Amino acid sequence: RAKKDGPGKVIVFEPAMHAEALARLTLTADLRHALAADEFRLLYQPLIRLETGVATGVEALIRWKRPGRGYVPPVEFLPLAEENGMIADIGRWVLRAAGEQAARWRRTHPALTLNVNVSGRQLTDPQFAADVEQTLTGCGLPAGAVTLELTESVLMNDPRTAIACLGDLRDLGVGLAIDDFGTGYSSLSYLQRLPVDELKIDRAFISRAEPTAADLAVIRTVVELARTLKLRTVVEGVETEEQHRAMRELGCDYGQGYHLCRPIEPESVPAAFAAPLVT
Ligand code: C2E
Ligand code: MG
Ligand code: MG
Ligand code: MG
Repeated sequence: RAKKDGPGKVIVFEPAMHAEALARLTLTADLRHALAADEFRLLYQPLIRLETGVATGVEALIRWKRPGRGYVPPVEFLPLAEENGMIADIGRWVLRAAGEQAARWRRTHPALTLNVNVSGRQLTDPQFAADVEQTLTGCGLPAGAVTLELTESVLMNDPRTAIACLGDLRDLGVGLAIDDFGTGYSSLSYLQRLPVDELKIDRAFISRAEPTAADLAVIRTVVELARTLKLRTVVEGVETEEQHRAMRELGCDYGQGYHLCRPIEPESVPAAFAAPLVT
């Protein structure tokens, strides 16, 4: 850590800081090359209809196949990409790659839907809605087959702007989801005014293998709220059979999680749609 020690302003660079700064520079440089070098990959995690155990759609999840470092998860590079603006190009790539893929799957599974995560920075680009429209047209994917996921914290950070941006997207016909719901601080009055279709309940709510009565009461309240607002509910992080059963009984519509299906390679997706994944 750099220290300012009084009027002499002696800056002390500790070795740890040097290493950290260097790693960050390397990461930035490597990230700049990643798109051109075709190093991004998408995994797909099915969304399961809890009543039937059947997969209805998939969420695209980015990975970076960084040379010599294996598959890097998004937490390790998306924050930087958001800071330096690279997220715009990465986000365009994700939508196009996932959109083309989903259009191919829909030839044999016409009802398959696609969820794509969008960062706050993408949303503030005035061209974003037009970009999305152009990309989906290029893929031959109907807007109604796509749901864009925005985190609750992004939406609530500046709800007025969010409402305006989401309106343009809504006009295109894409679905809109609030991701990680419950981790931000939703103002209920804004929640009602956001033109969204889907509430994704953060996995923090079912973090216990066997949810307690209090856990369930909270989730039940969220599900009821969603129903009042006419939103579909998706519960994230279903890791046990017990959680699956509890969420189904609470009337939650869809689930995602390791118990239902892990994020999988695109090659494995058709098989996931061939038969119910869980019973
Ligand atoms: P998210 O959209 O909330 O995605 C869910 C995350 O939870 C994924 O992590 C998924 O692999 C993980 N997950 C799924 N089921 C379970 C479970 O049962 N237990 C646990 N513990 N985790 C589970 P992942 O793939 O590392 O993605 C992390 C976050 O990165 C995503 O959270 C999303 O916010 C962001 N992200 C991923 N792909 C993209 C992208 O293409 N664009 C943008 N802007 N963000 C992305
Ligand atoms: Mg998501
Ligand atoms: Mg989420
Ligand atoms: Mg999450």
